Parts: sequence; C-alpha cells; structure tokens
Amino acid sequence: MAYQLAAKVRDLTPYDPIEGNYRIRLDANESFLTPPAWLQREMEEGIRQAMFNRYPDPKAEKVCRLFAQYYGIGEELVTAGNGSDELIMLIAAALLEKGDKVVTVLPDFSMYAFYSALSEVEVVEAQKRDDLTIDVDALIETVQQTGARALIFSNPCNPTSLGVEAEEVRRLVRSVPSCLVVLDEAYMDFWDQSLLNEVEQYDNLLILRTCSKAFGMAALRLGFAVANPTLTKALHAVKSPYNVNSLTQGAGAAVLGHPDYLRECVGKIVASRDDLYQKMKPIVDGWQDAYIAVPRTNFVHIRTPDAKRLFEGLKAEGIAVRLIAGGLRICAGTSQENQEVARVLAAL
Ligand SMILES: *Cc1c(COP(=O)(O)O)cnc(C)c1O
Repeated sequence: MAYQLAAKVRDLTPYDPIEGNYRIRLDANESFLTPPAWLQREMEEGIRQAMFNRYPDPKAEKVCRLFAQYYGIGEELVTAGNGSDELIMLIAAALLEKGDKVVTVLPDFSMYAFYSALSEVEVVEAQKRDDLTIDVDALIETVQQTGARALIFSNPCNPTSLGVEAEEVRRLVRSVPSCLVVLDEAYMDFWDQSLLNEVEQYDNLLILRTCSKAFGMAALRLGFAVANPTLTKALHAVKSPYNVNSLTQGAGAAVLGHPDYLRECVGKIVASRDDLYQKMKPIVDGWQDAYIAVPRTNFVHIRTPDAKRLFEGLKAEGIAVRLIAGGLRICAGTSQENQEVARVLAAL
C-alpha cells in the first residue's frame, strides 16, 4: 500500500499570515519600534561573536540570566525557547500524554488547540462570557469535571485585549492543584497583573513570556518559560538540546542587556495603545451594537457585527488589521498610523 500521511496532519495547511502589500501593518501585534542604531551595532557584535562551527549553548544561559534580572526572578526558573511558540508545542508534546485533556478558553490564541491536537491531546473548549471575559468559577468547574491535566490561556488575552486580575488567577491556580496551569503572559509587559514573581510558590504553574511583542524582537524568535525548579528541569530535559540558535542568543543578549531601553519601549507602546484607544472609543461608541473594551495589551479589540465590511474597507485602503473573535483586532502603531486607521474607520 502507498504511503499515507498520518490522519492528524492530512488536512492541515501551512500557517499563512495576511498576504499582499499594505502601507500600514497593524495585524500581527508586533512592536512598531525598531532598534536604534547603537543597539543594532551591539546586536551585530553579539552575532559576530557567535562561534559558527560550534553548537549553541543548550541552556542559553546568558539570555536566561538577563531575562531573569530584568524581571527580578531566579534564573534557575527560566527556560529559553525558539519563540514561546516552540514552548507551547513542547508543553503539549512532552508534559502531556496522548488522551490527556487540556482546557482552552475560547476565543484565545489558536496555537494552544493546534499543538494540543498535533500531540493527540484532547482539547476541551470552555467558552468565555458574551462580553468575552473569563468566568473563573466556571473554568475551575470545567477543569475539575473533565479531570484535565492542563489548562492554557493568555492573560491579558490575545485577541480580546481583556485581562484577568492577578488575585483571580491565583485563586484559579490554587483551585486546580492537580492541573498544570499554563499562563501565557505574552502581553503582560503592558499590564501589571503578572504572577511571574511568585511562580515558585506553585507546583502547577508555568508562565510563558516572549521578546516578540513588548521588546520588538519578533524576528529573533526568543521566548521564555518560567516555573518552579521541578517543572523547569523537566522542560530542560525534554526540549531539543540546541533549540535557540547562537545568532538569536547573541543578538538577544544585546537587547536584554539594556533594561532601561526595554522599559522605554514598553512605555512608548503603552502610550501608543492608549492613544489608539482614545481615538477609537468615540468612533466605536457612535456605531450600533459595537463595543471596545479598555485594552490591556498592545492592541485594541472592537466587537461589531460590521467587522467583515470594515476589515475589507481597511484592506482596500492598504491597512492590514485582523478579523477575529467577532470583531477587529488592531495593533498600536506610530501616532501617524493610529491617526490614519482611525480616519479610515470613521469614514467607513
Ligand atoms: C504572539 C504570541 C505568542 C508567540 O510569541 P513568540 O514568542 O513570537 O512565539 C504567544 N502567545 C500569545 C498569546 C501571542 O499573542
């Protein structure tokens, strides 16, 4: 009999980000800031020092140490990944077993369900409330009733830009002691409800962070998992030994070595996000059945039955945003870009 692809991959198609030429790209939640010339030089120097004939440092010690210093946590709690995306795949493939259940909360980041399905882990999809907030009590009940081995969600959330406050997340983690809670804090640099500094107090908490959003390093592919030493040891044991290449480690160390610069980036992005929200709010308030929540990330999410038409209208004007979760997800850009997207939306 001829070779057959495994059933689980037969109908998959490659991930395809929005195509075409756009004058304004606000669709991928990237940073609008590019590194200044002095930092580019330091990154290039970091790359130049890489030993090209040798395998990279399997522990990525320097970037892990600098990351830990930036957040004031112990470096022994940190694992580096080829983007946090790789870490999501690793958690699904290695910390869970075929037939285990993992709970996701819809709408949320699509990669959780994708990698879980690839690992033949059963995905239990809990729903958010109609206003897209998470009902923590209902979620605890879902985890308990299904006997799930893991729960994964983003906080604050991509795509809703809504957040669950730290006290509620604590209560959630403590209420499901036999379930691994994977807390994806990809956007927590833009909000102040992180559990990063207390992660060691929990047996069942694993936090994900990334350099792709707040730090403007999406091209590097560098993300981190933070968890107690037992979980961290397991992650180190199961990861691909050389998962973070030397170029990324070299350039990443240069960036992470400048905490003041990173804080400045976060401040500028938060200011732009607030500016985008201020511009969009009066426009959205003028539409029927439309709603924009106070954003906790670097993007706004506008719920509206008219989303598809607005998305196409923006596209026709050369502006890329994301059509998702019953609305538009628009990333904060430069002040001119924010101005322009607001102008076009108001005209539409
Ligand atoms: C962007 C994003 C990531 C992926 O980050 P990488 O480090 O670039 O792989 C992870 N989680 C969420 C929720 C994201 O939006």
